[in-house]
Amino acid sequence: MRSCCGPAVPHLDSSCETFAGPVADWVVRLTAGLTRSVQASDQTLGHLEEEILHQTRELERRLLEEAAQRKAEQTPPRCPVCGCALTRRTPDRERTYQTRFGPVTIRRLRGWCRRCRAWCFPADHALGLNEAGSASPSVQEMAALVASKLPVAEASAVLERLTGVKLPPATLDREARRQGQRAERKRQELDAQMRTAQGVPQILAQPEVPFTLIIELDAWNICERDDWGCTAALRRQGREPERWHWVYGGTCFRLDQRTESARGRPCILSRGTVMTRQGVEGVREQLFAEAQRHGLAQAAKVLVVADGAVWIWNLTGDRFPQAQQRLDYHHAREHLWAVAHALYPDEERAARHWVEPMLAQLQRGRAPALLNDLRALVRRLRHKKRQAVAGELAYLESHRDRMDYAAARRAGEPEGSGAMESTCRQYQCRFKRTGQFWSRAGDEALMCLETFWRNGRWHLLFPHIRHQDPGKN
Ligand SMILES: [Zn+2]
Repeated sequence: MRSCCGPAVPHLDSSCETFAGPVADWVVRLTAGLTRSVQASDQTLGHLEEEILHQTRELERRLLEEAAQRKAEQTPPRCPVCGCALTRRTPDRERTYQTRFGPVTIRRLRGWCRRCRAWCFPADHALGLNEAGSASPSVQEMAALVASKLPVAEASAVLERLTGVKLPPATLDREARRQGQRAERKRQELDAQMRTAQGVPQILAQPEVPFTLIIELDAWNICERDDWGCTAALRRQGREPERWHWVYGGTCFRLDQRTESARGRPCILSRGTVMTRQGVEGVREQLFAEAQRHGLAQAAKVLVVADGAVWIWNLTGDRFPQAQQRLDYHHAREHLWAVAHALYPDEERAARHWVEPMLAQLQRGRAPALLNDLRALVRRLRHKKRQAVAGELAYLESHRDRMDYAAARRAGEPEGSGAMESTCRQYQCRFKRTGQFWSRAGDEALMCLETFWRNGRWHLLFPHIRHQDPGKN
């Protein structure tokens, strides 16, 4: 309470008196409650924590209501959009907001802007309450955070237990989606800036020495029901409703940011991630902006690592033509194993005996020699075996310039796209649970929130929070 008596905020001086009553009540109630807890032999530190929380909440609510009311009253009666003085003003229009400390009612002035031809509440704008819905900025943030991490029913219960904020699942869902759509607009704005000189402040500080930028891509599918209730009608038209759709993702980081944790697990200190349902075009443009933030233009070398999917290498040629390309080692390995199983369908030991020298060649960077051996092998085979091995050979041939794993090890570069694959798995923990169905608009909005959080850009959506580590962008 010291700040409200200090000279720095003279206009709040009088609030000391206003707050004196609630504060005195609070001291009495808190002292009584704590004394009871201290004397009770069965009460722990946890009980003391709960007691303080419980007794302080009403005081916090009243302080917030009072401070918000003051802010509303000192907001000039001007249009927040064009700055015009408002006419036809009416004061004391009440509205109740759900806040971190419980419901708070604020009386605001309403006026007519002749230029915009609209009614407006300048105080709502000043308080960050100009969006639809009755959630305060803090509650908006809470809804966005818990719903992007947990299914809404669980999120609602966890939120209430941890913060005391009561948001029924349907309200929580609506608020989180609204925030997700706001996040999508913000992402669009930031990415558009990256296409112009305005994006320069978003570029992370880069080292003086030459560095390698790694880009990894992957995709997974999500179950959606946009045509909920239309299944029978669609089938009558001879169409089967599409349920599974591709989510495309990418990540980028500087090679020198790849390190090991204290327990020896690989980790990446600073990276940018994108994840989207907006198709290949969407991931291409988002990933390009992300790569620019992480030093695409400054990198001495760019390396793309991914599995064999055609869209990935088309995108790479299109957006990252300067990049060296590498097929994820485990995919190359799986295709060699497929050859082994085609040759020795029921003999696991024989298959292993055949594949091990092949894998060793691959590891030693001898992909061209390996492909020669496979070609010779195909010529000796007949019928089904020939067909099966030729198919695997065609796959490996199409990636022949992407399989120098010895060079990868010498340069300390990743041989596979494990970083992206594990990121995809983490998104799936939220977005691909049993029995879950999404709508395209719904999953994109929540995924966008999750991505802002991962990329350390949460404060760009919720400027009221204290700024995070600037090194994390
Ligand atoms: Zn206006």
